[in-house]
Amino acid sequence: MFGLIGHLTSLEHAHSVADAFGYGPYATQGLDLWCSAPPQFVEHFHVTSITGQTIEGKYIESAFLPEMLIKRRIKAAIRKILNAMAFAQKNNLNITALGGFSSIIFEEFNLKENRQVRNVSLEFDRFTTGNTHTAYIICRQVEQASAKLGIDLSQATVAICGATGDIGSAVCRWLDRKTDTQELFLIARNKERLQRLQDELGRGKIMGLEEALPEADIIVWVASMPKGVEINAETLKKPCLIIDGGYPKNLDTKIKHPDVHILKGGIVEHSLDIDWKIMETVNMDVPSRQMFACFAEAILLEFEQWHTNFSWGRNQITVTKMEQIGEASVKHGLQPLLSW
Ligand code: NDP
Repeated sequence: MFGLIGHLTSLEHAHSVADAFGYGPYATQGLDLWCSAPPQFVEHFHVTSITGQTIEGKYIESAFLPEMLIKRRIKAAIRKILNAMAFAQKNNLNITALGGFSSIIFEEFNLKENRQVRNVSLEFDRFTTGNTHTAYIICRQVEQASAKLGIDLSQATVAICGATGDIGSAVCRWLDRKTDTQELFLIARNKERLQRLQDELGRGKIMGLEEALPEADIIVWVASMPKGVEINAETLKKPCLIIDGGYPKNLDTKIKHPDVHILKGGIVEHSLDIDWKIMETVNMDVPSRQMFACFAEAILLEFEQWHTNFSWGRNQITVTKMEQIGEASVKHGLQPLLSW
């Protein structure tokens, strides 16, 4: 059996689904109380591949909320992720994806040093960040959605915001190696890491956000930001394709321009319905078929019986591993979301 560790997008979101998630007593409570809420199973479901194979999985709500980072409740955030992981392991889940901010908190606060969670010694090979599959899906979205819009990658500039991150650096590697993309703009705050990425790729222009966006044909947004940002559509190229891979979605939904196309990044669509409710609560357009690509990675690892931490650590994702998980993705009936 596989597991998915997820979290809600805000305190307001948590209040609205508290009853359905079994957190009824917390429905009207502030952040302080949510900081002490335990992880729990919210759903148990089956997923069937187009090969005919069926597997079982469980969704674990960690009760982490992005406000815990915004308000610097770091200890609470760490506790949420470690407790959810210990809970997954105690319940014998073979492979569990660390969704949304879970893997970022794990890496950022070096939680591999916190292996012991009360009486559970965490076995890290039971967990995956899901970032290899997420990066693969975002790259396929770049390739396929640009073709749909008539943007020729060989003439196009792709700006990657969050380029030095785990997903962002993998996207850069793929675009460099597997496509003929004309120019890559590399955007992040830490200049040293940007320089290292540029050295590794042997290409790419290090740019500030403000100067990069108006010159980009395609914007891949994979920065880890607990709050959204606003972009003025007037300043962007037309047409412009934006792939918003952040969770919570980083880009303001207010961008409304007929020639600016915003695609939800890192979302996959399964060919067969899944009888679960969980994707309704995160507002997927087709909740019975759509899901986050990181969750889908745990599903693929369970289908293939690759019970290992396929995606782990930071900036280790290779094009070869993206190809490997990509083949499994196609084999079991997953496709990148392409409708906006
Ligand atoms: P990382 O923490 O590894 O990387 C984050 C990147 O964002 C870094 O390059 C960081 O560089 C940059 N960044 C952070 N803040 C800013 C800022 N204010 N301005 C510019 N750049 C910034 O994150 P991941 O690669 O693991 O994840 C990226 C995003 O993808 C997250 O939002 C995550 O929730 C989402 N995600 C989506 C999934 C899906 O299934 N759809 C699955 C997994 C993750 P620096 O600090 O130097 O600025």
